[in-house]
Amino acid sequence: MPQSLSPEQLRAIADEFGTPVYVYHAEKIKEQYEKLVSAFANTNTIFFYACKALTNVNILRYIKSIGANVDCSSINEVKLALYAGFPPERILYTSNGIGFDEIVEAKELGVIINIDSLSNLEKFGKKFGHSYPVGIRLRPNIMAGGNLKISTGHDKSKFGIPVDQIDKILAVVQQYNLFIKDLHIHTGSEIKDVDIFIRGIEVLFEIVPHFAELEFIDLGGGFKVPYETGDSETDMNLLAQKVKEDFDRHAQTRGKNLQIWFEPGKFLVSECGYFITKVNVMKETASANFVSVNSGFNHLIRPMFYDAYHRIENISNLKGDGKVYSVVGNICETDTFAWNRILNEVKEGDYLVFYNAGAYGFEMSSNFNSRYKPAEVLVINGKAHLIRRRDKFEDLLRNIVEVKIEK
Ligand SMILES: *Cc1c(COP(=O)(O)O)cnc(C)c1O
Repeated sequence: MPQSLSPEQLRAIADEFGTPVYVYHAEKIKEQYEKLVSAFANTNTIFFYACKALTNVNILRYIKSIGANVDCSSINEVKLALYAGFPPERILYTSNGIGFDEIVEAKELGVIINIDSLSNLEKFGKKFGHSYPVGIRLRPNIMAGGNLKISTGHDKSKFGIPVDQIDKILAVVQQYNLFIKDLHIHTGSEIKDVDIFIRGIEVLFEIVPHFAELEFIDLGGGFKVPYETGDSETDMNLLAQKVKEDFDRHAQTRGKNLQIWFEPGKFLVSECGYFITKVNVMKETASANFVSVNSGFNHLIRPMFYDAYHRIENISNLKGDGKVYSVVGNICETDTFAWNRILNEVKEGDYLVFYNAGAYGFEMSSNFNSRYKPAEVLVINGKAHLIRRRDKFEDLLRNIVEVKIEK
């Protein structure tokens, strides 16, 4: 029985904590994690939660409690993970265009590091030589993912060192006698076709023999989750089976057993999340029947930012007739959540819930239009806990330095 929160539970949470509010269901995260673990049970695989999807420290602690490791995209995420109680050896810092000072800091904190540029690899070599292990983030030149804005491994992408520059990589590795412990790729998000991962593995296996001290192959994240009814997710059992075949074949031919790493973000936390808004205004026009909610792209930017689809439901009218609406926000910019969507008849004051709101929802929110960021609530064992209070007016002024303005 898949874990989910009922419309009644969501309505009660909206009544208790107000709207707009992000709600996360802990047991759903666990269910997703267990899917991964059981699919890969016959392989030597571990998982690092890509925490940029959702970093509330309570979520990090929950993720730690169910046994996952954590992958970070900034030094502050590394510090949050340490604060949440992850030991350094369970924290991976996969860098992307960062300053070398952050890599030095990560090394001092004792976490695992993936480097994504020849420049930083060289600086690392000069400073640390063979004394500290490091991974290399490669760009495999593979097109993957839901759309171009969320693709990261293709041949025009900024991410990773292009694998065609292997000679340069090897020159740096040799010059400084670098201790290369892992090779990393992350080709994009919402990858449904498991063969994309297999192609990535093949690209990596080509160059594996150059790295004698290699222990892991890190295949990144990007698993697809269902967004619409009838939509499917990445077939984990099929992926695990194909990955196993590839790695077993490799172990036989090269006599080396490499551990497999993945960095799922969305897969773990997308479906656990619900974003509840309230309808401010109904506006009928010749072109559309607008439903304006008490939120906007300041709280959930994914539809406007990269055309993400979020299923929306009117949880205040579960049995009403369907009508066509355009759901928009209250921000002074074009701010459309959904065009021509069928919802059960909507009235002002109704609660609309956005599904799949756990990943890159709150995390990408802002105070644009000087609006407050939403509250966050975690439901665990059937009980709802406030895990971030809604902003207050003082929060808008928190870092402002007031100077005397002469007339
Ligand atoms: C964002 C990111 C991920 C997670 O991607 P999802 O699509 O959320 O699974 C994994 N690895 C790296 C390096 C990332 O930047």
